[in-house]
Amino acid sequence: MDRIAILTSGGDSPGMNACIRATARHALDRGLSVLGVIKGYEGLIDGVFIPMESTDVSNIIQRGGTILHTARSPRFREPDGRAAAADSLRRNSVDGLVVIGGDGSFRGAHELYIEHGIPLVGVPATIDNDIWGTDLTIGYDTAVNTALEAIDKVRDTAAAHDRLFIIEVMGRSAGFIALEVGIGAGAEAVLIPETPTDLNAICDRIQGRIARGRTSSILVVAEGDEAGDAFRIAEKVKDMSGLKSRVTVLGHVQRGGSPTTRDRVLASKLGWASVDALMEGAQDVMVGEVDNRVVRHPLPDTWMKRKLLDPLLVTLSENL
Ligand code: ADP
Repeated sequence: MDRIAILTSGGDSPGMNACIRATARHALDRGLSVLGVIKGYEGLIDGVFIPMESTDVSNIIQRGGTILHTARSPRFREPDGRAAAADSLRRNSVDGLVVIGGDGSFRGAHELYIEHGIPLVGVPATIDNDIWGTDLTIGYDTAVNTALEAIDKVRDTAAAHDRLFIIEVMGRSAGFIALEVGIGAGAEAVLIPETPTDLNAICDRIQGRIARGRTSSILVVAEGDEAGDAFRIAEKVKDMSGLKSRVTVLGHVQRGGSPTTRDRVLASKLGWASVDALMEGAQDVMVGEVDNRVVRHPLPDTWMKRKLLDPLLVTLSENL
């Protein structure tokens, strides 16, 4: 192996830059040359590569987003797009590819491997933490802390005005962010896709609080909850109980910002491990971290197996 390429794809997450840095620097240290691909699979198809030296990744470890930019690429979903991407890689003499992204990016990478035999390694980076085979994904810790800080601020105004707030956090069809943030923020209820949502019971709980003189409450809702988005839930709560609420959708603020130490370290570790994996001949795998140890899993396992919430955390969120 003489040359690798690195790309970031799909939703960005804080820590992607730290991962690019570690991947590039470790590859350079091991005598490889390194190319960066601009705009994920779009850049791969169009052959937009930049050479990367150690100084190109200086002063980025603390920055959110991704210096390589990212994209959704409908063209890469088609066999022709992937054939063009494989051509670009061969034309640029790339022997291995590091894909930093979420499960969509991994599905695309797997297709590229199956159809064109490109050796590749996935590094899990998404704020949603919804990837099997790693305890945490790069960006999750930062997103949870960003959401927590925002909810603490909302609680101040909720308390001042004696209000019920319904706060929607990201997470796609998984409740990892909502669950941890809900526990951390001391939310009165946490609504997640993994467990049934009983809005009647939640309304009763809030009214019970009001009867006990507790005039403000916070509900944390995962964007993928079965009861609907935060606005829909606010309507239902009003219809069921007459309780009025304010809605805050945290949205993309959760994607940005400077990564936490934990995300920077995880990103550095997994970027490093991706180079070792490629050099040891691993193909079509994801590197992850389980119980503080770096692991490798076949890429398809990462989306075909479902990562489960910690049942203890679910109990805590229901009882505290
Ligand atoms: P993430 O990696 O954050 O989950 P997406 O789901 O948007 O983000 O996926 C990123 C890109 O990966 C898509 O724009 C597409 O180019 C590619 N991709 C996703 N799913 C597939 C698939 N089933 N087959 C081929 N390519 C895919």
